Amino acid sequence: GSSAKSEVSPASGMINSGRRKSVAPQELNKANKRMSCVVKPPEMQLKRGKFGESTRPNQKFYDMIQEFRESLEIIPMSTSEVSHRICVCVRKRPLNKQECNKKEIDVVSVPGKGALLVHEPKQKVDLTKYLDNQVFQFDYSFDETANNDLVYKFTAKPLVKSIFEGGMATCFAYGQTGSGKTHTMGGDFSGKQQNSAKGIYAFASQDVFAYLNHWKYTNQDLSVYVSFFEIYNGKVYELLNKKAKLRVLEDERQQVQVVGLEEVYVTSADEVIKLIQTGSACRTSGQTSANANSSRSHAILQIVLRRNDRHSTLHGKFSLVDLAGNERGTDVSSNDRSTLVETAEINRSLLALKECIRSLGKNSDHIPFRMSTLTKVLRDSFIGEKSRTCMIAMVSPSMASCEYTMNTLRYADRVKELNGNSKRNG
Ligand code: ADP
Ligand code: MG
Repeated sequence: GSSAKSEVSPASGMINSGRRKSVAPQELNKANKRMSCVVKPPEMQLKRGKFGESTRPNQKFYDMIQEFRESLEIIPMSTSEVSHRICVCVRKRPLNKQECNKKEIDVVSVPGKGALLVHEPKQKVDLTKYLDNQVFQFDYSFDETANNDLVYKFTAKPLVKSIFEGGMATCFAYGQTGSGKTHTMGGDFSGKQQNSAKGIYAFASQDVFAYLNHWKYTNQDLSVYVSFFEIYNGKVYELLNKKAKLRVLEDERQQVQVVGLEEVYVTSADEVIKLIQTGSACRTSGQTSANANSSRSHAILQIVLRRNDRHSTLHGKFSLVDLAGNERGTDVSSNDRSTLVETAEINRSLLALKECIRSLGKNSDHIPFRMSTLTKVLRDSFIGEKSRTCMIAMVSPSMASCEYTMNTLRYADRVKELNGNSKRNG
C-alpha cells in the first residue's frame, strides 16, 4: 500500500524487503544518511525554472519529481561481490532525442545501491496531482550515465569464470521494445550503426579468450565455438546461415538438441565480433521498420567450450539472450490474428523463463522447461550446481512508458524473489 514504510538495515544500507514499496523522500534519506561517501550529482544543483512557468505538458509532475530528487542522495556503485546464483539488475536508458524534443519527463530515479524509483504520476478524484513513488530493490541498478562496459562488469563478467569450471551461464536482457536490450547486448548504436565491439556479447567473448589463455585453464585443453540463432513464434532460425529453420528435438534422456545448429570454431574475440555482425544483420534483414520483427523474437548467442577429446565433450556454455519485447502482454488493441498468436507465444515464453529461473533459485527438481521453445533450448542452464543466471531488466525513463516500466520491474522482482536476502547480507 501507499503508506508502507521501508525497513532499512543500518548494516547494509539496503532496503530489506524484496518487495516494492511506496516511499516518501524523507524515508529514503534516513537510509542514505547512514552511508558514507554520499555525493549529490551535479544536476541536482541546477536551478529550477521559475514557479508557474509551464514549458512542458506535464510541468507540474516534472516539478514534483525534481523536488523529490533534490532531497534524494545518490550512493556510488561499489564492487560488492554478489555471490548467489541468480543476479537481477536494472538499467535505465537516457531520454532520447525525440523524447527530449517532445519535452517528455523522466519519471525514473536511480539513487544507487541497487535501488530504483518510479515516480508514478497520479491524480486524485478532486484532480490534485500527486506522485506515487515506488521503490524497487535489485542487486545492481544502473542509471542513464552507465555505459555498456560498466553494466558488463557487474552483470555478465562474473559469470565467465563459471563456464571454465564446467558450468552453464546465462545472461538475459529483458524489457519493452526500445528500452535498450540490443544496445546492451549487441553493442551501442551511434545513429543507425551498431558498434558490435562494445556490447555484452563482445565483452564476454574477450574475457572467454582471456581465460582460455590463462595458465590456470590452459591444461584443460578447450576449444571455443559460437552459435547464434533466434526464436520467433516458437520456431528456431539460424542467424549464421540465412535464417535457416531448425528443429528442436528432445531425446529419451531429456537432452534437448537444435538439429543442425551451426557451431563455428573461433580462435579470437575478433572472430566472434564478426559473427555477431553477421548474425545481427541477418536478424534485422528484410524488416520494414527498425524494430519490426526483431522486437518479437528472442536472439541467443552461445559461447560454447568443448574439450579437445574424441567426442568434443561439452565443458561449459554461456548463453547471452536478447529477449523479445515484453510490451505485448498488455497490448490488447490488435485484432490481427497473427499478432495475437505472436503475443501469446511471447507471453508464454517469458512466463516459462521466469518459472525456470525461479526453479533454479529454489534448487527445485522440477523445471518447467517444456512450456516454451526458449526454455527448452536453454534447459541445461536451469539445472546443476554450477548454473548461474543474470537478468538485466531495461527500462525507458519516460512518463509515457511508465506502465511498461512498472510491468518490467514487477517481473524482475518476481524473478529474484525467494532468492534469499540472507545470502546477500551474510
Ligand atoms: P530494444 O532492443 O530494447 O528494442 P534498443 O537497444 O534497440 O532497444 O534501443 C533503442 C534505442 O535507444 C537505440 O537507438 C539505442 O541506441 C538507444 N539506447 C538504448 N539504450 C541506451 C543507452 N543506455 N544509452 C544511449 N542510448 C541508448
Ligand atoms: Mg532489440
